[in-house]
Amino acid sequence: MSVTVRAPAKVNLALVVGRPREDGYHPLNTVYQAISLYDDVRVSDAEDWVVSVHPIGEVDVSVVPLDDSNIALRAGRALVAHHGLELAADIVIHKGIPVAGGLAGGSADAAATLVALDRLWDLRTTDEDLLAIAGELGSDVPFALIGGSAHGLGHGELVSPLSDHGSYWWVVVPSDEGLSTPEVYREFDRLQPDLDPTAHQADPVALVSALQEGDPDALATSMRNDLEDAALSLRPELAERIALVQAHCDAKVMLSGSGPTILGIVASQEDALDSRAALLEAGFEVVHVATGPVAGAHVVEYA
Ligand code: ATP
Repeated sequence: MSVTVRAPAKVNLALVVGRPREDGYHPLNTVYQAISLYDDVRVSDAEDWVVSVHPIGEVDVSVVPLDDSNIALRAGRALVAHHGLELAADIVIHKGIPVAGGLAGGSADAAATLVALDRLWDLRTTDEDLLAIAGELGSDVPFALIGGSAHGLGHGELVSPLSDHGSYWWVVVPSDEGLSTPEVYREFDRLQPDLDPTAHQADPVALVSALQEGDPDALATSMRNDLEDAALSLRPELAERIALVQAHCDAKVMLSGSGPTILGIVASQEDALDSRAALLEAGFEVVHVATGPVAGAHVVEYA
């Protein structure tokens, strides 16, 4: 028997970053949205833990580790430890989310693995426990479980769903070379050594009300990414790339999370497809069109 779970990529509509805490984590005040780029994770019983990764389309999976550092494997082991069991699984990841792109693909795999193994072994883990295990695995993993649009506090792991009456269209432009999230945070600290410790605490009121109204223009105006300067400082050529995307999209354009994926929020599916065609014509090799919000990790097949 096998179970397949699909989990979405995330974008941060707001990513407000505070001064690092004593434990090294940066406090975040973030608004997530799950978008329609997905990884599918299939699990089945095995003698020992094993993970494999296969690309969907043009996704480069060469840097995804297949050893114990793969976050899907870590998720599996954490779930088994939580229940005090000695089980193992074969985890097969089909990856449609660009790797190391600021789209939380690894987190999606971890969330998908938790749900898939819970169903495979009928563990009936409570939602509360699943969210807690997810939060230990990584800041973005709890959000990959719940999907939709959500507010994230703590270091991103304390998520609460937001009411969202809209549907939005995204143009997603990955880069050939990923960016390391820890490196981007280190650069953020270097650029902002004297950050006011309370600066990140304001509620994202404008964004939350834009989502509630389902107003894409208000949403675009209130989007914010505090990691963008740090990512551009590490990868200056990204500024030119962002300008090029801007020139071919009638959209608000910004980096996704720690980058280097570039996002444009456009008014309609038609605009998204037009922008994609213009960007491909201008020489960009891979451009995705996605919609959001979409569901978090969910079962797509029992076989
Ligand atoms: P972060 O979640 O740290 O913000 P990201 O969204 O930019 O990162 P991911 O695709 O999650 O990017 O990958 C970050 C790194 O995690 C990769 O470079 C890879 O080395 C490692 N990794 C571990 N497990 C996985 C996995 N299952 N899928 C993708 N990357 C993984």
